This record gives sequence, structure tokens and C-alpha cells, in this order.
Amino acid sequence: MRPGPVSSVVLPAQATGTRCYARAAGPFIGVPVEHDELIDLVSDLFAVISAVSSYPEPYHLPPVQLRPLSELQAMVCKGPCQLRGFYMPRKGVYLNDTLDIRNDVIARSVLLHELVHHVQELSGRFDIVPNQCDRWWSREREAYEIQNAYLRENGNGVRFALDSLPYMCGDR
Ligand SMILES: [Zn+2]
Repeated sequence: MRPGPVSSVVLPAQATGTRCYARAAGPFIGVPVEHDELIDLVSDLFAVISAVSSYPEPYHLPPVQLRPLSELQAMVCKGPCQLRGFYMPRKGVYLNDTLDIRNDVIARSVLLHELVHHVQELSGRFDIVPNQCDRWWSREREAYEIQNAYLRENGNGVRFALDSLPYMCGDR
């Protein structure tokens, strides 16, 4: 049985809470992903996450919205920035609408990465990490690991790594 529907409610633009940034892919012109198709895809990706991690599939799906880059930038960037997507607790996943999540496994892996942040949030698994930056870092590391496992299982050689992000939690 599938969990509840993905909300299509347009949420207010407010940049708070845990965020995850990823650089945007090139322009994509395609057929928009329909509501039911998105629900199926999100459900399938949560099943993948559950299979490769200890996270159970959530009973309710978070809102997932494909939006123009300019709209995403207005939500989380002070100026122009390149974004593939981000997750906001209690608001859900926002994805760059140039991502071809129907046909491109790398684009789908970006969605999966953001969905990992949702199950992390639900589980509270990293709440015990006292430092906010370390907490963010731990979440990202796990999300990239699960994203890479997904790519590997789909025979894709691309790997996402925290190496591409500066370590910003102070001196070690
Ligand atoms: Zn992330």
C-alpha cells in the first residue's frame, strides 16, 4: 500500500532550517512530470532508501515540488546561485525543474538525496550531534553515501562526494 499523497500546495518561500544545496545541471526541455507519476517515483525512491539503510519508509510522503531555478534562488540564495534542489523540514523537497527525473538516473539520485534528508529529519537520528555544523555534515555524508549506492545499483559511474564541498565546520 502506498503512503499518502504528495501535497501540491504551494508553500511560502521562507529559508529556514536544514538546507542542502547542489549545483544545477544543464537546461532540460521535457514533458512535465505529472502528480501521480511523482507520487510513484517518490514512493519507489523511499523503498530504495529503506533497502540500503536502516530508515523505514515514511507513512506520509513529503511535498515534492519542481520549480524554476529563479524561484528556488529567491527562497535560499541572496543572489544568483546554481541549485539542483534542497530540503526544508516541514516543507519538503524543492527541485530545479530542469532535472529530468523521469529519464535521468542522476537527476533521480538528486531527488533521492533530498528524500534521505526527510527520513533523517523524521528519525531524529542526528539530533544528538551537538554542533549544528557537524550535524549538517553528518547528514550530508550519509545522504551522499545512499545517493552513490543508488547510482551504483543502477549501473551509473557518477559519484557524488563531499569532497566537492568545503568543510565548513571549523578547524580539525
Ligand atoms: Zn544534502
